[in-house]
Amino acid sequence: MKNSVSMDTIVSLCKRRGFIFQSSEIYGGLSGAWDYGPLGAELKRNIKDAWWKANVHDREDMVGLDASILMHPETWNASGHTQNFTDQLVDCKACKRRFRADHVGDSCPACGAKDFTEARAFNLMLKTHLGAMEDSSSVVYLRPETAQGIFVNFMNVRDTSRKRLPFGIAQIGKSFRNEITPGNFTFRTREFEQMEIEFFTHPGEAQEWHKRWIEDRFQWYVNLGMTPDRLRLRKHGEDELAHYSVGCTDIEYEFPFGWSELEGIANRTDFDLKQHAQFSGKDLKYKDSVTQEEVIPFVIEPSGGVDRATLAFLVDAYHEEQVNDSPRVVLRFHKKLAPIKVAVLPLLKKSSEIVSKAKAIKADLQKNVTCVYDDTASIGKLYRRQDEVGTVLCVTVDPESLEDQQVTVRERDSMQQVRIPMDRLKSYVCEHFGN
Ligand code: ATP
Repeated sequence: MKNSVSMDTIVSLCKRRGFIFQSSEIYGGLSGAWDYGPLGAELKRNIKDAWWKANVHDREDMVGLDASILMHPETWNASGHTQNFTDQLVDCKACKRRFRADHVGDSCPACGAKDFTEARAFNLMLKTHLGAMEDSSSVVYLRPETAQGIFVNFMNVRDTSRKRLPFGIAQIGKSFRNEITPGNFTFRTREFEQMEIEFFTHPGEAQEWHKRWIEDRFQWYVNLGMTPDRLRLRKHGEDELAHYSVGCTDIEYEFPFGWSELEGIANRTDFDLKQHAQFSGKDLKYKDSVTQEEVIPFVIEPSGGVDRATLAFLVDAYHEEQVNDSPRVVLRFHKKLAPIKVAVLPLLKKSSEIVSKAKAIKADLQKNVTCVYDDTASIGKLYRRQDEVGTVLCVTVDPESLEDQQVTVRERDSMQQVRIPMDRLKSYVCEHFGN
């Protein structure tokens, strides 16, 4: 079932609580670019860390990579991006506005006129110049996907990591696309982050691995608490597939603006390695160290967006409920993703003993988990404030604590409170977060 929260509510919560801001806001903003504030930066990091752990550290058949954003321009000739990474655009002859041809019907969405120019191909790669000369020999592109950084390093990784097929290379990094119509908040932007895997297999095993990766990647979102009913798989039709691709399945999430792609998992055959071998003149075959077999591996590519995942986790976590006749907004993030794990709150700000105890507890806990201390409102308000950003546990120090050396620990979702002896608090918290 779709979350009934509106995008306006999410956007305003993100701004009010410091998750996501408009880029360059004081100058009126920049279209298609967003900045992650203190809480957004933590959330996004946690998502990337969870992805890296599941896809690199927890597996025997994967290694990581961090390639540069700027690449040799020949890369994009080999990959086909210079030729084919285009949208078809039309101009309205009346109001001069420009649209994607597949986004206009009979009439201009802006002014209603029915007179358009012929469609022209518009390349989505962002161009810049390297060095002091701004001529065509200095043109480079900001990468439109991280994947090519993996393919051009295939030989380096093959020769240094001694992995045998099947194995994969994972990478997280920024990509850039000059999207004609950025929108839906951080869903479609011109600068974004991707989490990509190129998994190299024997050609005969590619189909089986494709299936496995689709299941694995779907389960990753579920394991991090995303509502399974708001996730679905969508298999591409023949007409949607790139000419070299023999299958692609998207993982979609039911956003407030409808079902939309979080991640695509494609079987790219041996296209990329063959292209780069041809354009670079290098031998990009895989040679098995035991059997001496030589093969150009097939590639399964699970390719997801960090920003889209972050937005989906935010939307999915959002809940509004009534507690004792007053409204409570709570972000029910999975505890691995919550930007703040523990808030330490003094019940009486006037008592210096309570305050210093609470600060000491915070200083100790933050060695293990992300923590905040807050004494700027009444306890009821402090709880609501933490609920609204998804803080998992609140630890309250009250006058009794000074007597019995115990604190109150309140859990976000159940709002249940337990008294815990201070000398056991740290192990209680660490156990809760599996540290
Ligand atoms: P779309 O059809 O939505 O434009 P795509 O199929 O072109 O996406 P891919 O090229 O498969 O996207 O990129 C892989 C992933 O990178 C996407 O699933 C998405 O999560 C992310 N991504 C792609 N373009 C953008 C963008 N403009 N803004 C944010 N994330 C993006």
